[in-house]
Amino acid sequence: MDFCTINLSTVGRPPLAVHRKPQTILNKIIIAIDGHSSCGKSTLAKAMGNALGYAYISTGDMYRAVTLYFLENQVDINDKAAVVEALKQIRLHFVKDENGNRIHLNGRDVSEEIRKMHVAEMVSPVAVISEVRREMVRQQQAMGQQKAVVMDGRDIGTVVFPQAELKIFLTADVEERTRRRYEELTAKGQHVDFEEVKKNLTARDHIDSTREDSPLRQADDAVVIDNTDLNHEQQLELALDLVRERVESESVNTGH
Ligand code: C5P
Repeated sequence: MDFCTINLSTVGRPPLAVHRKPQTILNKIIIAIDGHSSCGKSTLAKAMGNALGYAYISTGDMYRAVTLYFLENQVDINDKAAVVEALKQIRLHFVKDENGNRIHLNGRDVSEEIRKMHVAEMVSPVAVISEVRREMVRQQQAMGQQKAVVMDGRDIGTVVFPQAELKIFLTADVEERTRRRYEELTAKGQHVDFEEVKKNLTARDHIDSTREDSPLRQADDAVVIDNTDLNHEQQLELALDLVRERVESESVNTGH
C-alpha cells in the first residue's frame, strides 16, 4: 500500500487573528485527538488545523476506506492471507479542497461513500485486524513526521504519536452523539433510524474499547473535554488555549 499523501499547503500559513500570541503558535507540535464515535473529533481537528495553519487528518476515514475496499471486493476478514493481499492493492490519498480533506481510494473520491451505514457497520471489525492497524499506523506516522499536524482517531495519543505534545480525549453523552450523527446522515439524504444510529455508535465504541490491539483508551497525559454542552466555537477556544499552554511550556523547556 502506498503512503498516504496530503496536500500540506496550509502548513506554515499565518494563524488566525484570534490568537493572542500568534508567533508562539507557529511552533510546530503534534496534536492528537482521540475519543468515542461521533463526538465531533474530526470537526474539532479540522477547525484547529485551519486556525493553526496545520494539516489535519481524520484517521477514521482511512479505516473506513479500507473497509469499503474489503466490502466491494468481498475480502473475507477472517482470511489473514486475503487481508494482507488486499492491503497491497489499496492506495489511500488525502486531497484538500475548500470543504476539507477528501479521501481517495485507488484514485476514486470515496469521502461520501465511507460515511454510509453499511461501511459504519463493518469498520470496527476491520479495525480490529492487526495487519490493517499496522499499515494504517505506519502511514499515519509518516504523515506526522513534519509535525504541525492535528490527527484524530482512537489510538493517536496512545500508539501513533505517544510523544504528541498535546493529547485531547473528546467525549460526549451518547444521546447527544447519536443526535449529531443522525442529523448529519439525514441532512445528506440517508434514510436512517435514530435507534439504528445509536446502536451502531454503541457497538463501535464497545469493539473499539475492548479489542486487543490498540484499544480506544484515554492516554494518561490526555486532557479530557466533554463537549455535550459545548458549541463548536467554545470547544475550539478551549482547545486553542491548550495549544497555547503547550507551545509556551515547550518553548520554556527547549529554550526556543
Ligand atoms: O472516526 P470514525 O468514527 O470515522 O472511525 C470509524 C472507525 O474506525 C472507528 O469506530 C474505529 O473502529 C476505527 N478507527 C480506529 N482507529 C483509529 C480511527 C478509527 O480503530 N485511529
